[in-house]
Amino acid sequence: MTVKKKTRFFKSLRFRIMIILLILGIVPSVIVTQLMIYNYETQALEVRASAVRAQCAILSNQIIKENYLNDSSSEAVNSKLELLSNIYGGRVLLVDKDFRIVKDTYHVDEEKTLISPGVIRCFKTGEVTDYSRNGQIMQLAVPVKSADVPQIQGAMLVTVSCSEIMATMVEMEQQGMLIIAIIVVLSIFLSYFLSTVLVKPLARVTKSIEDLTDGYQKDEISVPDYTETELITDAFNKMLARMKVLDESRSEFVSNVSHELKTPMTSMKVLADSLVGQEGVPEELYQEFMHDITAEIDRENRIITDLLTLVKMDKKTADLSIQHMDINQLLEDILKRLQPIADKRNIDLILDSFRPVEADVDELKFTSAISNLVENAIKYNVDDGWVRVSLDADHKYFYVTVADSGMGIPEDSIDRIFERFYRVDKSHSREIGGTGLGLAITRSTIAMHHGVIKVFSREGEGTTFSVRIPLSYIP
Ligand code: ADP
Repeated sequence: MTVKKKTRFFKSLRFRIMIILLILGIVPSVIVTQLMIYNYETQALEVRASAVRAQCAILSNQIIKENYLNDSSSEAVNSKLELLSNIYGGRVLLVDKDFRIVKDTYHVDEEKTLISPGVIRCFKTGEVTDYSRNGQIMQLAVPVKSADVPQIQGAMLVTVSCSEIMATMVEMEQQGMLIIAIIVVLSIFLSYFLSTVLVKPLARVTKSIEDLTDGYQKDEISVPDYTETELITDAFNKMLARMKVLDESRSEFVSNVSHELKTPMTSMKVLADSLVGQEGVPEELYQEFMHDITAEIDRENRIITDLLTLVKMDKKTADLSIQHMDINQLLEDILKRLQPIADKRNIDLILDSFRPVEADVDELKFTSAISNLVENAIKYNVDDGWVRVSLDADHKYFYVTVADSGMGIPEDSIDRIFERFYRVDKSHSREIGGTGLGLAITRSTIAMHHGVIKVFSREGEGTTFSVRIPLSYIP
C-alpha cells in the first residue's frame, strides 16, 4: 500500500466503523472477564478460609480439652493436624503463649520460637488472614481458645495452597482472551460488512460525480439513499447550476467581446476598401474617410481599455489606493471637467452639496466611476435638459446621486444595464461613443469600495443613480 493509500484507509469511514466496533466489543468483554475473575477469586478464597476456620475451631476445642499445648502426645490431635495439613496441601504450625512451636506438620521447626507479625497480631486481635497471589498461598493465624476457655491459649498458623484457585483463574483468563479474539475477528468482519453497506451510497455519490465530469450523465445527480447524500447531491447540483450560468455568461462575454471588437474593424475595412478600389479619389473624400478610420481606431482603443479595466477588477488584482479625500472637491472637479460636454447641448450641470464630506476612496477609480454616471446622464439626456449631482452623508456612509432629465430606461432593461455590453439602444450608444462597459466598471469600482449602486428610472422622464459608500474603508 502506498503512503497515500494508507492515509486514505486510516481516514476512511470503513476504518472508523471498524475501530468503533472493536472498542464496543473489546472494552466490555475485558471488563466483564476481569470482574468475573475478581469475583471468583474473592469468593473461592472466602470459601476456603471459612472451611479452614471451621476446622481450626473444632481442633482448638480438642487441643484445649486434651491440654495438647503442654503435652503434644495426643495421637487424635496429631492425626487431625496432619489431616488438616494434607487436605489443604499446606502446613500447620501450633504455637503456644510463649511463641514456642508445639507442633509443625513438616516436623522441621518444632520446639523453636516463632515471633512473626502474624502470630503477634493473632494474640492481640484474634484471627488474621494473609493472601499472597504470587506465592499462591493463603495464611491463616487462628487463635486457640474454646467456649470454656475464652482466653487465647496459643495460635494455629495454617498455610493453605491456593494453586488450584489460581489455575482456575488462569483458565478463565484464557477463555476470556479467546472470547476477545473471537470478538475482534467478528468485529472486523462485521465492520467490513456494515461499512460496505453504509458507505455504498457515498461511493455512489462519488461515482455519479465522476460520471458527470466524464460526461456520461447530463444534468444532475441524484442519490436519495440517505438524507445526508440527498443534501450533498442537492448542494452539488446547485453548484453545478451556478457553474453552468457562469459558463454561459463567459461564452456570451467572449462572443460579445469578439463582436464588439469586430465592428470597428469591419467599418475600417469598408472605408479602406472603398478608397483602395477607386482611382483618382478626391482629396476631401480621402480626408473624410481617414477621419472616420481614426474615429474607429479610437473606438477600438476605448473598448480594449475598458475591457482591460474590467479584467483587472475581476482578477481582484486591482488594489485600491485608498486616501482620505474631500468628496465635495472631487465632485466639483468632475463637473468642471464635464461642463464643456454639457454646454454643447445646453445641459445644466448642478451640484447640491448638503454638507462637507470627507471619506476614504481611491481617487482615480472613484472619480472615473462618478464621471461615468455624469457622462451617461449627459449622453442620454435631451437638449436643454439638466443633470443634478447631490452629495450627503450620515455617521457611516456618504451618498452621491446623479439625476437627469433624460430619456430614461425602459422597465425591462433596468435590471440589465449593469451587464457587460448591455445597451438599451445599441446604435444610439455606439453613435455617441459608448462601449456598453461603463456601468459594469462603475458597479465593480463601487463594490470594491464596499458600496452599493441603485438605479431608478422612468422612460421619457429621467434617471437617477444613487451610490452609497462607507466613509471609512475597512479592508
Ligand atoms: P455605454 O457605454 O453604452 O454608455 P454603459 O454601461 O455606461 O454603456 O451604460 C449601459 C446602458 O445603460 C447604456 O447604453 C444606456 O442605454 C443605459 N443608460 C446608462 N445611463 C443612462 C442614463 N442616465 N439614462 C438613460 N439610459 C442610461
